[in-house]
This record gives sequence, structure tokens and C-alpha cells, in this order.
Amino acid sequence: MWGGVLGWCAGPRHSSASVNKRGKAGKFKDLGACDLGLGRTGSERPRYATSVADRSATNLASRLAAQWIEFERAWLGLTTPPWLVRTREAAWRPQPLADSCPRCATPVGAFEVEVDAKGRFSCPECRGLRLPWDACVRLGDYDGLLRDAVAEVKFTAWRSLGRAIGRELGQLLAERLTQAGVPPERVALVPMPTTLWRRMFRGVDHTLVLTRGVRERLPGASIVRPISRRHRPSQLDVPQSQRRANVAKSMAARPRAAEPAANIEVIIVVDDVMTTGATMREACRAVRQWLATPSGGRGGEGGSIGRKATPKVWAAVVAGPVAEGRRDGRAQSDAATQIEDH
Ligand SMILES: [Zn+2]
Repeated sequence: MWGGVLGWCAGPRHSSASVNKRGKAGKFKDLGACDLGLGRTGSERPRYATSVADRSATNLASRLAAQWIEFERAWLGLTTPPWLVRTREAAWRPQPLADSCPRCATPVGAFEVEVDAKGRFSCPECRGLRLPWDACVRLGDYDGLLRDAVAEVKFTAWRSLGRAIGRELGQLLAERLTQAGVPPERVALVPMPTTLWRRMFRGVDHTLVLTRGVRERLPGASIVRPISRRHRPSQLDVPQSQRRANVAKSMAARPRAAEPAANIEVIIVVDDVMTTGATMREACRAVRQWLATPSGGRGGEGGSIGRKATPKVWAAVVAGPVAEGRRDGRAQSDAATQIEDH
């Protein structure tokens, strides 16, 4: 518990378990005292080695967080496999936009995506379904490299890895926004909200880390946090059939959330994993609730000024349901089943 609290204050919690996990992966040694800089001198020592006594109590937490980030940048990138090394070794590539449905991100074959009279896309998996987002982008299947990397970011608070994955997702989003004719400065990014308790326990707000990585590929985009979340049991601990009920009404627009800027055309909710889609559905519902309020941009006095239309809501996730069945031409994909579970 105290490790979690300290981690929340200071940044990521690199427990011995997480370090050993990377060590087992192969080629990278465990971090010992020497690796932590305790036995190093001169230019090798990280610059953060200053006296704690000089710091005031009020900014101690922010100083510790900054120091930890610097430590992570200086040392962990050298002693653990960087994202680019992992992707090269695994011959991993993002899921190409042309190979997936623009609306639900399910892998599709040629001529399977249709466009209706209003310009809305659909594929055999999402046709006729009511989805709370207008478009969906995902990096790939929740399997293998992506599954391991997402778990490391979330449960070992590895920020630099999270930002690297976020940049991949941001690159894919940049392509998609270009196709839609939306410049990045007209985009607002919404990290999937987490609860204070979960953030303290994990030592990181991992979706915020991912979102910051996304923004690196979308210069001019803003990060906003207009929705809050009540604590509920983790979706990982709840059967798929109960996940929708578990997150129902768990998110809502913050009463005092500032309205989106008048030039915003697309609001993108960013999350790490989408399995049943229940959490993303709830977040998009809360975003639409925010947009429907007088301050949120429709019919109000603030954000509505100069706004041509209510912004579109997109979903962006690192990993989605494995859809190998569809790729193999079987009758029905896991993805289709799970999306209908919303
Ligand atoms: Zn679709």
C-alpha cells in the first residue's frame, strides 16, 4: 500500500518483481544498486542527486516525480528493451487503416466496408449496431507483444514504454485524421479516466501517459479531462457478461468541466485495451453528456460561440479483441460477438 502511495507521489513503481520480469525476458540484466547509480560517479551519476533537505515540503512530490522520470529516461531505457527493439524482434506492425473498419476497427476484407448516404461507414460486424463513437482506431490485437507491453505500462508504471506505444497510436490517428480532413489542432484528446484509488495503487495514470504519447504525433492537439469515474471492481475481475453492468453510470461529465474550444471538431477517447467495449461505451456516453450541457458546446453561451457543429467522438485503443476467426474466414469473429456485448 505504502509503495503504491509513494509511487503515486513519485511516479512509477519499479518493484523488484517488475524488474525481474524484464530480466527473465532475456537479454537485459536486473537492476542492482550499481545500475541504480548508487555506485557510479562523475558524469555517470544522474543529475537528480541533490540534497533532500533543500526541498520544501510543498513541492516534494513534484520534485520526486520529476526526478523519477529523469531516472527512467537516463537508466531504464538502457537496461530494458525499448519499444523499437521489441517491435523489430517480433516483426510487429500496426494494424493498417485500410485493413480495418473505420467505424469499429474490426479487420475487414476488400469491399466489406460500405458508406451510406450520410457518409457513415459500416462493415458486416457493426452494420445495424448502435455504437457510441463515430469512429474507432486501434493499433492491433490484444495478444503477444501488445498484451505484454500494455501490462507492463499498467502494472509496473513504465512511463517511457507507455509514451512509445502512445506515439504509435498517435501516428495511426494522424493518418486517419488526415483522411478525414481534420487538422490536429482541431482535436481534443480525453484519456480514459481512472479513479484516485486505482491511480494510487498502480502508481501511474497509464492512460494519461499513453495520451501524452499520442499528442506527440498530433502537434497542436489538446488533452482535456471532462469526465470523472467512480470506483468499481476492475473489469479484469468481472465476467464478460457482467462488464456492462459493472461500469454502467460509473462515469459522468464533471460539473465544472470547461467547454471544448470552439475550433474542436473531433474528441478522441484514448484507452489501452477494449475487450467488450463496455468501458469505452460508458466513457463516450459521458463525453456526449458533457457536449450536451450548456457549457459543453451545444446550445450554451461559451463553447457554442463560433462552433459549426457538435464535435465527433472517436475511440482510440492500443489493443482490441483478437479477430483471428474473421481473418481465417470463419463464421463469426470474437470481435463481433464482443462488440454486441455492449
Ligand atoms: Zn465495423
